[in-house]
Amino acid sequence: MPDSSANPRKVIPIVASANPGPAELPADADEVMVSLYQAQKKIYPRSVSGLFSQWRWVMVWITQLVFYGIPWLQWGERQAVLFDLGARRFYIFNLVLYPQDFIYLTGILVISAYSLFLFTAVAGRLWCGYACPQTVYTEMFLWLEKLAEGDRSARMRRDEGPWSFDKISRKFAKHFMWLTLAFWTGLTFVGYFTPIHQLAGELLALQMTSWEAFWTIFYGFATYGNAGFMREQVCKYMCPYARFQSAMFDKDTLIVTYDAERGENRGPRARKADPKALGLGDCVDCSLCVQVCPTGIDIRNGLQYECIGCGACADVCDTVMDKMGYARGLVRYSTEHAVKEHWSRGDIIRHVFRPRVMIYSAILALIVVGMAVSLILRSPFKVDVVRDRGSLARIAEGGNIENVYRLQIMNATEATQRFKISATGLPGLAVASEEAVTIESTQSRWVPVRLQVPYGSSAGGSHPIEFVVDDLDSGERVVEKAVFLVPR
Ligand code: SF4
Ligand code: SF4
Repeated sequence: MPDSSANPRKVIPIVASANPGPAELPADADEVMVSLYQAQKKIYPRSVSGLFSQWRWVMVWITQLVFYGIPWLQWGERQAVLFDLGARRFYIFNLVLYPQDFIYLTGILVISAYSLFLFTAVAGRLWCGYACPQTVYTEMFLWLEKLAEGDRSARMRRDEGPWSFDKISRKFAKHFMWLTLAFWTGLTFVGYFTPIHQLAGELLALQMTSWEAFWTIFYGFATYGNAGFMREQVCKYMCPYARFQSAMFDKDTLIVTYDAERGENRGPRARKADPKALGLGDCVDCSLCVQVCPTGIDIRNGLQYECIGCGACADVCDTVMDKMGYARGLVRYSTEHAVKEHWSRGDIIRHVFRPRVMIYSAILALIVVGMAVSLILRSPFKVDVVRDRGSLARIAEGGNIENVYRLQIMNATEATQRFKISATGLPGLAVASEEAVTIESTQSRWVPVRLQVPYGSSAGGSHPIEFVVDDLDSGERVVEKAVFLVPR
């Protein structure tokens, strides 16, 4: 048995290694360096064009036109979409929501979650590759980077070279464009919570409130950091979705996949050479699929959790196949079953409609319909009843027994509403205070209400009653339960 004490080797943990590769130790070294964190090699994704790249840019345009454009839309006298946290009102086009409408936010979150499950079961990380803000902003920042510093090889060369005027001015231009875009993104984000016309005026006059300035800078720097520097690290180490997505995958889920049966043995060859005669498959081992990958992985190693399904490797491999005169699709969107069983496109589409997908679709459709119906049937006003804790029950003038309540009436429309308050549930029960109430548009008001019953008309104790609030203009009615106390 080797005697370990004869050559005690000291293990020195270090926080980060400057050299990402394995440490080379002299033969007589008696210390082993163990890195607790793998230093990351900077990834320089090569730009790529092709079908999937075009789709990603379509999604960049759609998502960003919506994000940057919506706060500038007007709806009558106000901003079309505004989450006014101070006034506790959320305006979404013609909808005015109160915090009590939280159920709709829950509904939107549930719909988003089920949509994600459904799309992931069908087409893998479609969201990650095309619509996730991290992907979209990274794409935009990469475009600006290319504009200032050129494509991959130029950027790598410049980064390795000494600091020159050209290098400094290009870096400055890049960071200036990044910061401008990031700051504009932060301002737009805040514009969903503060009317953006007002915000733009405050910005020009340098009169933003401290909270507005804080959130603009915070969101702007988060965008700058995530899209400019952290990039694939966010997908690999921070995003929880990458971790649990495999639970939603099955063998019929569309993934970006390398057809190893067709591609191997990989190796370079002349364009006119016969690969079969050389014992080669269709992969020419050009490594372009690795160079374009935003997460720096090699799709030829199989499905990896780092793969965001962006299709960049499929696009670039198709261009290589075109140049070589081979059929496209060595790297393609396909399913595990399809690659193994050599399925046609029709077979793949047929397998989309499998039980799991049908169940997700049915649940999603039910929730969407339920939420739509609930929104359509939503009452244009809300009523909350609170008993006046100061007085439980008392004998009023004229000998009637009186209970006092406070009704919060919330006008959920943008027109003034007139209401009539009444109550039922006990013989002789009547409203002794003002029955008619007017509430201005989108306002809510606490209304004190006194109810009375004739003395002796009801037994002592607690009696269930109902408040009835009628909208005199629309005819809508809201009924709220309450209790009336009669002293024993
Ligand atoms: S791009 Fe295609 S041909 Fe080139 S290494 Fe990747 S898989 Fe092989
Ligand atoms: S492996 Fe291909 S699809 Fe996956 S992230 Fe890299 S380039 Fe995109």
